[in-house]
Amino acid sequence: MRVAVVGCGAMGAAAGWRLQKRGAEVVCFDRYSPPHEIGSTHGESRVTRTAYFEGPWYVPLLKETFGMWRELEAESKQQLLTPTGLLMIGAPDSEAVVASQAAANEHGLEVKVLDASELRRRYPGHTVGDGEIAVFDPQAGFLRVEAIVSAMTRELNVRRNTKVTGVDPKSDGVEVSTAQGSEMFDAAVIATGPWMTELVPFLPLKVERQVLVWLAIQSGADWFSPERFPVWIREATPQGDVYGLPTLDGLSIKLARHHGGETVDPATVRRTATDADLDPLRLFVTKYLHGVTRHVTRSSVCLYTNTPDRHFAIGLHPESERVAIVSACSGHGFKFAPVVGDIAADLVLEGGTRRDISRLALQRFT
Ligand SMILES: Cc1cc2nc3c(=O)[nH]c(=O)nc-3n(C[C@H](O)[C@H](O)[C@H](O)COP(=O)(O)OP(=O)(O)OC[C@H]3O[C@@H](n4cnc5c(N)ncnc54)[C@H](O)[C@@H]3O)c2cc1C
Repeated sequence: MRVAVVGCGAMGAAAGWRLQKRGAEVVCFDRYSPPHEIGSTHGESRVTRTAYFEGPWYVPLLKETFGMWRELEAESKQQLLTPTGLLMIGAPDSEAVVASQAAANEHGLEVKVLDASELRRRYPGHTVGDGEIAVFDPQAGFLRVEAIVSAMTRELNVRRNTKVTGVDPKSDGVEVSTAQGSEMFDAAVIATGPWMTELVPFLPLKVERQVLVWLAIQSGADWFSPERFPVWIREATPQGDVYGLPTLDGLSIKLARHHGGETVDPATVRRTATDADLDPLRLFVTKYLHGVTRHVTRSSVCLYTNTPDRHFAIGLHPESERVAIVSACSGHGFKFAPVVGDIAADLVLEGGTRRDISRLALQRFT
Protein backbone atom coordinates (compact mmCIF):
# COMPACT_ATOMS: atom_id res chain seq x y z
CA MET A 1 0.00 0.00 0.00
CA ARG A 2 1.26 3.52 -0.89
CA VAL A 3 0.63 6.00 1.91
CA ALA A 4 1.18 9.78 1.99
CA VAL A 5 2.01 11.24 5.38
CA VAL A 6 1.28 14.97 5.41
CA GLY A 7 3.32 16.81 8.04
CA CYS A 8 6.50 15.34 9.42
CA GLY A 9 6.76 16.63 12.98
CA ALA A 10 6.58 14.17 15.88
CA MET A 11 3.32 12.57 14.81
CA GLY A 12 3.93 12.39 11.06
CA ALA A 13 7.48 11.09 11.56
CA ALA A 14 6.17 8.43 13.94
CA ALA A 15 3.36 7.45 11.56
CA GLY A 16 5.84 7.17 8.69
CA TRP A 17 8.23 5.11 10.81
CA ARG A 18 5.55 2.64 11.90
CA LEU A 19 3.89 2.44 8.46
CA GLN A 20 7.17 1.65 6.72
CA LYS A 21 8.04 -0.99 9.34
CA ARG A 22 4.67 -2.58 8.64
CA GLY A 23 5.33 -2.84 4.93
CA ALA A 24 3.76 0.31 3.47
CA GLU A 25 5.47 2.41 0.83
CA VAL A 26 5.57 5.82 2.50
CA VAL A 27 6.07 9.33 1.16
CA CYS A 28 6.18 12.11 3.80
CA PHE A 29 5.54 15.73 2.88
CA ASP A 30 6.57 18.70 4.99
CA ARG A 31 6.23 22.40 4.24
CA TYR A 32 9.58 22.98 6.04
CA SER A 33 12.59 20.74 6.67
CA PRO A 34 12.06 18.67 9.83
CA PRO A 35 13.19 18.70 12.55
CA HIS A 36 12.60 22.47 12.50
CA GLU A 37 11.71 25.19 15.01
CA ILE A 38 8.49 26.47 13.47
CA GLY A 39 5.90 23.97 14.78
CA SER A 40 5.57 21.99 18.02
CA THR A 41 8.52 19.59 17.89
CA HIS A 42 11.70 21.36 18.99
CA GLY A 43 13.51 22.63 22.08
CA GLU A 44 15.92 19.80 22.96
CA SER A 45 13.77 17.72 25.32
CA ARG A 46 10.29 16.49 26.20
CA VAL A 47 8.98 14.99 29.44
CA THR A 48 7.57 11.47 29.54
CA ARG A 49 5.81 9.98 32.56
CA THR A 50 3.28 7.28 33.41
CA ALA A 51 1.08 8.28 36.40
CA TYR A 52 -0.96 10.37 34.03
CA PHE A 53 -3.07 13.06 35.70
CA GLU A 54 -4.67 14.02 32.37
CA GLY A 55 -6.61 10.73 32.41
CA PRO A 56 -5.94 7.15 33.49
CA TRP A 57 -7.08 5.87 30.08
CA TYR A 58 -3.78 7.18 28.63
CA VAL A 59 -1.71 4.80 30.80
CA PRO A 60 -2.01 1.65 28.62
CA LEU A 61 -0.89 3.71 25.61
CA LEU A 62 2.02 5.15 27.59
CA LYS A 63 3.14 1.72 28.76
CA GLU A 64 3.51 0.70 25.10
CA THR A 65 5.78 3.62 24.26
CA PHE A 66 8.71 2.60 26.44
CA GLY A 67 9.48 -0.53 24.38
CA MET A 68 9.06 1.47 21.19
CA TRP A 69 11.57 4.12 22.32
CA ARG A 70 14.05 1.31 23.04
CA GLU A 71 13.36 -0.09 19.57
CA LEU A 72 14.09 3.31 17.99
CA GLU A 73 17.24 3.64 20.12
CA ALA A 74 18.47 0.24 18.91
CA GLU A 75 17.76 1.15 15.28
CA SER A 76 19.45 4.55 15.47
CA LYS A 77 22.22 3.49 17.92
CA GLN A 78 21.79 6.40 20.34
CA GLN A 79 20.12 7.19 23.63
CA LEU A 80 16.80 8.95 23.12
CA LEU A 81 15.07 8.39 26.48
CA THR A 82 16.88 9.26 29.71
CA PRO A 83 15.14 7.90 32.81
CA THR A 84 15.23 10.36 35.70
CA GLY A 85 11.88 9.85 37.45
CA LEU A 86 9.45 12.74 37.85
CA LEU A 87 8.33 14.80 40.82
CA MET A 88 4.77 16.09 40.73
CA ILE A 89 4.97 18.78 43.42
CA GLY A 90 1.97 20.49 44.98
CA ALA A 91 -0.49 20.59 47.84
CA PRO A 92 -1.76 17.10 48.82
CA ASP A 93 -5.24 17.95 47.57
CA SER A 94 -4.18 19.63 44.34
CA GLU A 95 -5.75 18.30 41.18
CA ALA A 96 -2.57 16.99 39.53
CA VAL A 97 -1.23 15.37 42.72
CA VAL A 98 -4.53 13.61 43.39
CA ALA A 99 -5.13 12.58 39.76
CA SER A 100 -1.63 11.21 39.24
CA GLN A 101 -2.03 8.98 42.32
CA ALA A 102 -5.44 7.86 41.07
CA ALA A 103 -3.99 6.92 37.65
CA ALA A 104 -1.18 5.00 39.38
CA ASN A 105 -3.64 3.11 41.61
CA GLU A 106 -5.91 2.21 38.73
CA HIS A 107 -3.04 0.77 36.69
CA GLY A 108 -0.85 -0.68 39.42
CA LEU A 109 2.01 1.76 38.82
CA GLU A 110 4.56 2.11 41.58
CA VAL A 111 4.71 5.72 42.70
CA LYS A 112 6.11 7.12 45.92
CA VAL A 113 4.76 10.02 47.97
CA LEU A 114 7.45 12.25 49.50
CA ASP A 115 6.73 14.77 52.25
CA ALA A 116 8.29 18.23 52.44
CA SER A 117 11.24 17.26 54.63
CA GLU A 118 12.18 14.28 52.47
CA LEU A 119 11.88 16.41 49.37
CA ARG A 120 14.21 19.06 50.80
CA ARG A 121 16.73 16.42 51.86
CA ARG A 122 16.82 14.58 48.55
CA TYR A 123 16.40 17.48 46.14
CA PRO A 124 18.05 20.65 47.45
CA GLY A 125 17.32 22.44 44.15
CA HIS A 126 13.64 22.72 45.08
CA THR A 127 12.32 25.22 47.63
CA VAL A 128 9.53 23.33 49.34
CA GLY A 129 6.76 24.73 51.53
CA ASP A 130 5.77 22.82 54.71
CA GLY A 131 2.38 21.91 53.25
CA GLU A 132 3.70 20.55 49.97
CA ILE A 133 4.30 16.96 48.92
CA ALA A 134 5.47 15.24 45.75
CA VAL A 135 4.36 12.14 43.90
CA PHE A 136 7.47 10.48 42.46
CA ASP A 137 6.92 8.58 39.20
CA PRO A 138 10.04 6.41 38.81
CA GLN A 139 9.43 5.42 35.17
CA ALA A 140 9.45 9.01 33.96
CA GLY A 141 12.27 10.81 32.18
CA PHE A 142 13.01 12.97 29.20
CA LEU A 143 13.17 12.40 25.46
CA ARG A 144 15.51 14.04 22.92
CA VAL A 145 13.00 15.66 20.65
CA GLU A 146 14.93 16.59 17.49
CA ALA A 147 17.05 13.41 17.60
CA ILE A 148 13.85 11.36 17.72
CA VAL A 149 12.39 13.00 14.61
CA SER A 150 15.71 12.47 12.82
CA ALA A 151 15.80 8.82 13.92
CA MET A 152 12.23 8.18 12.84
CA THR A 153 12.74 9.77 9.43
CA ARG A 154 16.19 8.26 8.83
CA GLU A 155 14.93 5.75 6.27
CA LEU A 156 11.85 7.62 5.08
CA ASN A 157 11.31 9.36 1.77
CA VAL A 158 10.67 12.92 3.02
CA ARG A 159 9.75 15.62 0.52
CA ARG A 160 11.01 18.68 2.34
CA ASN A 161 9.84 22.26 1.79
CA THR A 162 6.78 20.87 0.01
CA LYS A 163 3.48 22.24 1.26
CA VAL A 164 0.43 20.05 0.67
CA THR A 165 -2.52 22.12 -0.53
CA GLY A 166 -5.14 19.37 -0.80
CA VAL A 167 -5.88 15.84 0.41
CA ASP A 168 -8.90 14.66 -1.59
CA PRO A 169 -10.36 11.18 -1.23
CA LYS A 170 -11.46 9.64 -4.58
CA SER A 171 -13.15 6.29 -5.27
CA ASP A 172 -9.81 4.62 -6.08
CA GLY A 173 -7.46 6.42 -3.68
CA VAL A 174 -6.46 9.76 -2.23
CA GLU A 175 -5.22 12.67 -4.32
CA VAL A 176 -2.48 14.71 -2.63
CA SER A 177 -1.81 18.13 -4.19
CA THR A 178 1.24 20.36 -3.91
CA ALA A 179 2.53 23.28 -6.00
CA GLN A 180 4.33 20.65 -8.09
CA GLY A 181 1.08 18.86 -9.07
CA SER A 182 -1.15 16.04 -7.82
CA GLU A 183 -0.34 12.45 -7.01
CA MET A 184 -2.52 9.46 -6.13
CA PHE A 185 -1.95 7.35 -3.00
CA ASP A 186 -3.92 4.44 -1.53
CA ALA A 187 -4.25 6.26 1.79
CA ALA A 188 -3.07 9.33 3.68
CA VAL A 189 -2.29 10.43 7.23
CA ILE A 190 -2.76 14.12 8.02
CA ALA A 191 -0.50 15.22 10.90
CA THR A 192 -0.02 18.92 10.28
CA GLY A 193 0.03 20.04 13.92
CA PRO A 194 -0.72 23.76 14.36
CA TRP A 195 -1.70 24.03 10.67
CA MET A 196 -4.26 21.21 10.96
CA THR A 197 -7.37 23.30 10.28
CA GLU A 198 -6.06 24.34 6.84
CA LEU A 199 -6.71 20.77 5.65
CA VAL A 200 -9.21 19.65 8.33
CA PRO A 201 -11.43 22.68 9.00
CA PHE A 202 -14.03 20.86 11.12
CA LEU A 203 -11.65 20.38 14.08
CA PRO A 204 -12.13 23.13 16.72
CA LEU A 205 -8.41 23.60 17.42
CA LYS A 206 -6.74 26.62 18.97
CA VAL A 207 -3.03 27.27 18.68
CA GLU A 208 -1.33 28.55 21.84
CA ARG A 209 2.05 30.30 21.97
CA GLN A 210 4.43 28.78 24.54
CA VAL A 211 7.87 29.98 25.56
CA LEU A 212 10.69 27.69 26.68
CA VAL A 213 13.50 29.22 28.69
CA TRP A 214 16.95 28.06 29.80
CA LEU A 215 18.19 29.76 32.97
CA ALA A 216 21.80 29.69 34.14
CA ILE A 217 22.72 27.56 37.15
CA GLN A 218 24.71 29.27 39.93
CA SER A 219 28.32 28.14 39.96
CA GLY A 220 28.83 25.42 42.55
CA ALA A 221 25.22 24.24 42.43
CA ASP A 222 25.87 20.63 41.43
CA TRP A 223 22.50 19.04 42.10
CA PHE A 224 20.86 19.56 38.67
CA SER A 225 22.35 16.63 36.73
CA PRO A 226 19.99 13.98 35.24
CA GLU A 227 21.26 11.51 37.89
CA ARG A 228 20.27 13.81 40.77
CA PHE A 229 17.45 16.02 39.55
CA PRO A 230 14.29 14.31 38.24
CA VAL A 231 12.05 16.09 35.76
CA TRP A 232 9.34 17.93 37.67
CA ILE A 233 5.96 19.61 37.39
CA ARG A 234 4.87 22.07 40.02
CA GLU A 235 1.79 24.08 40.82
CA ALA A 236 2.97 27.64 41.28
CA THR A 237 1.34 30.91 42.26
CA PRO A 238 0.77 33.00 40.18
CA GLN A 239 2.34 31.16 37.22
CA GLY A 240 0.09 28.07 37.22
CA ASP A 241 1.70 24.74 36.28
CA VAL A 242 5.43 25.04 35.57
CA TYR A 243 7.69 22.14 34.56
CA GLY A 244 11.42 21.71 34.22
CA LEU A 245 14.21 19.31 33.39
CA PRO A 246 17.72 18.55 34.63
CA THR A 247 20.66 20.29 33.02
CA LEU A 248 21.87 18.85 29.73
CA ASP A 249 24.81 21.24 29.28
CA GLY A 250 25.94 21.59 32.90
CA LEU A 251 25.28 25.34 32.71
CA SER A 252 21.50 25.86 32.58
CA ILE A 253 18.16 24.17 33.17
CA LYS A 254 15.12 24.38 30.92
CA LEU A 255 11.72 25.33 32.31
CA ALA A 256 8.36 26.50 30.96
CA ARG A 257 4.80 27.23 31.92
CA HIS A 258 2.24 24.63 30.90
CA HIS A 259 -0.57 26.58 29.15
CA GLY A 260 -1.46 30.20 29.92
CA GLY A 261 -0.11 31.41 26.55
CA GLU A 262 -1.93 33.58 24.04
CA THR A 263 -3.99 32.15 21.15
CA VAL A 264 -2.13 32.74 17.90
CA ASP A 265 -2.00 31.98 14.19
CA PRO A 266 1.13 30.01 13.22
CA ALA A 267 1.54 32.29 10.19
CA THR A 268 1.90 35.46 12.25
CA VAL A 269 2.99 34.37 15.76
CA ARG A 270 5.86 36.33 17.39
CA ARG A 271 8.79 33.95 17.28
CA THR A 272 11.02 35.62 19.85
CA ALA A 273 10.51 35.75 23.61
CA THR A 274 10.02 39.10 25.32
CA ASP A 275 10.43 40.14 28.97
CA ALA A 276 6.67 39.68 29.38
CA ASP A 277 7.24 35.97 28.57
CA LEU A 278 10.40 35.58 30.62
CA ASP A 279 9.59 37.54 33.77
CA PRO A 280 7.06 35.04 35.22
CA LEU A 281 9.71 32.31 34.94
CA ARG A 282 12.43 34.51 36.46
CA LEU A 283 10.02 35.14 39.32
CA PHE A 284 9.34 31.41 39.57
CA VAL A 285 13.00 30.49 40.12
CA THR A 286 13.37 33.16 42.77
CA LYS A 287 10.57 31.61 44.74
CA TYR A 288 10.74 27.89 43.96
CA LEU A 289 14.31 26.86 43.03
CA HIS A 290 17.68 27.09 44.82
CA GLY A 291 20.83 27.51 42.76
CA VAL A 292 19.24 28.79 39.54
CA THR A 293 19.72 32.41 38.46
CA ARG A 294 17.40 34.75 36.57
CA HIS A 295 19.91 34.91 33.70
CA VAL A 296 18.38 33.62 30.45
CA THR A 297 20.90 31.73 28.33
CA ARG A 298 18.42 30.70 25.63
CA SER A 299 14.72 30.81 24.83
CA SER A 300 12.45 29.39 22.18
CA VAL A 301 8.85 29.86 21.06
CA CYS A 302 6.83 26.72 20.46
CA LEU A 303 3.18 26.04 19.63
CA TYR A 304 0.56 23.97 21.46
CA THR A 305 -2.41 22.86 19.34
CA ASN A 306 -5.28 22.50 21.80
CA THR A 307 -8.60 20.72 21.50
CA PRO A 308 -11.39 22.16 23.70
CA ASP A 309 -11.08 19.28 26.23
CA ARG A 310 -7.26 19.03 25.83
CA HIS A 311 -7.41 15.39 24.79
CA PHE A 312 -6.07 14.31 21.42
CA ALA A 313 -8.12 14.03 18.24
CA ILE A 314 -7.31 10.83 16.36
CA GLY A 315 -9.34 8.81 13.90
CA LEU A 316 -10.42 8.16 10.34
CA HIS A 317 -11.79 11.13 8.42
CA PRO A 318 -15.60 11.16 8.74
CA GLU A 319 -15.86 11.21 4.93
CA SER A 320 -13.15 8.71 4.03
CA GLU A 321 -11.72 5.52 5.50
CA ARG A 322 -8.57 6.13 3.48
CA VAL A 323 -7.57 9.22 5.47
CA ALA A 324 -6.42 9.22 9.10
CA ILE A 325 -6.27 12.45 11.10
CA VAL A 326 -3.80 12.79 13.96
CA SER A 327 -3.81 15.80 16.25
CA ALA A 328 -1.97 14.70 19.37
CA CYS A 329 -0.83 17.80 21.19
CA SER A 330 -2.69 19.99 23.69
CA GLY A 331 0.81 20.37 25.12
CA HIS A 332 1.28 16.72 26.12
CA GLY A 333 1.46 14.62 22.94
CA PHE A 334 5.14 14.02 22.32
CA LYS A 335 5.56 11.16 24.79
CA PHE A 336 2.86 9.23 22.88
CA ALA A 337 4.40 9.71 19.42
CA PRO A 338 5.42 6.09 18.70
CA VAL A 339 2.12 4.58 19.78
CA VAL A 340 0.13 7.33 18.05
CA GLY A 341 2.17 6.63 14.90
CA ASP A 342 1.31 2.95 15.21
CA ILE A 343 -2.38 3.78 15.70
CA ALA A 344 -2.28 5.88 12.52
CA ALA A 345 -0.80 2.84 10.78
CA ASP A 346 -3.59 0.63 12.23
CA LEU A 347 -6.22 3.03 10.92
CA VAL A 348 -5.01 3.25 7.33
CA LEU A 349 -3.72 -0.33 6.96
CA GLU A 350 -6.47 -2.15 8.86
CA GLY A 351 -9.37 0.30 9.00
CA GLY A 352 -9.37 0.35 12.83
CA THR A 353 -7.24 -0.18 15.92
CA ARG A 354 -7.27 -2.64 18.82
CA ARG A 355 -6.15 0.18 21.16
CA ASP A 356 -8.84 1.99 23.10
CA ILE A 357 -8.90 5.48 21.61
CA SER A 358 -12.58 6.15 22.30
CA ARG A 359 -11.76 9.19 24.47
CA LEU A 360 -9.70 10.63 21.62
CA ALA A 361 -12.32 10.10 18.89
CA LEU A 362 -12.95 12.70 16.20
CA GLN A 363 -16.70 12.12 16.67
CA ARG A 364 -16.68 14.42 19.68
CA PHE A 365 -16.24 17.28 17.21
CA THR A 366 -18.43 16.16 14.30
C1 LIG B 1 6.84 24.18 24.43
C2 LIG B 1 6.30 22.80 24.29
C3 LIG B 1 6.59 21.86 25.26
C4 LIG B 1 6.06 20.58 25.19
N1 LIG B 1 6.40 19.67 26.14
C5 LIG B 1 5.95 18.41 26.05
C6 LIG B 1 6.40 17.43 26.97
O1 LIG B 1 7.22 17.72 27.84
N2 LIG B 1 5.92 16.18 26.85
C7 LIG B 1 5.05 15.83 25.87
O2 LIG B 1 4.65 14.67 25.80
N3 LIG B 1 4.63 16.73 24.95
C8 LIG B 1 5.06 18.00 25.01
N4 LIG B 1 4.68 18.93 24.09
C9 LIG B 1 3.75 18.54 23.02
C10 LIG B 1 4.44 17.87 21.85
O3 LIG B 1 5.65 18.48 21.57
C11 LIG B 1 3.47 17.88 20.67
O4 LIG B 1 2.35 17.10 21.05
C12 LIG B 1 4.05 17.30 19.40
O5 LIG B 1 5.32 17.84 19.13
C13 LIG B 1 3.09 17.57 18.26
O6 LIG B 1 3.65 17.12 17.05
P1 LIG B 1 2.89 17.29 15.67
O7 LIG B 1 3.56 16.37 14.72
O8 LIG B 1 1.42 17.14 15.88
O9 LIG B 1 3.09 18.82 15.25
P2 LIG B 1 4.37 19.54 14.58
O10 LIG B 1 5.61 19.11 15.21
O11 LIG B 1 4.09 20.98 14.52
O12 LIG B 1 4.38 18.95 13.12
C14 LIG B 1 3.50 19.34 12.11
C15 LIG B 1 4.28 19.33 10.82
O13 LIG B 1 3.39 19.51 9.73
C16 LIG B 1 4.05 20.31 8.78
N5 LIG B 1 2.98 20.88 7.95
C17 LIG B 1 1.99 21.70 8.35
N6 LIG B 1 1.16 21.98 7.33
C18 LIG B 1 1.64 21.30 6.26
C19 LIG B 1 1.21 21.19 4.91
N7 LIG B 1 0.12 21.80 4.46
N8 LIG B 1 1.95 20.44 4.07
C20 LIG B 1 3.07 19.80 4.50
N9 LIG B 1 3.50 19.88 5.77
C21 LIG B 1 2.80 20.62 6.64
C22 LIG B 1 4.82 21.32 9.61
O14 LIG B 1 5.88 21.90 8.89
C23 LIG B 1 5.29 20.46 10.76
O15 LIG B 1 6.58 19.92 10.51
C24 LIG B 1 5.20 20.22 24.11
C25 LIG B 1 4.92 21.15 23.12
C26 LIG B 1 5.48 22.43 23.19
C27 LIG B 1 5.16 23.42 22.11
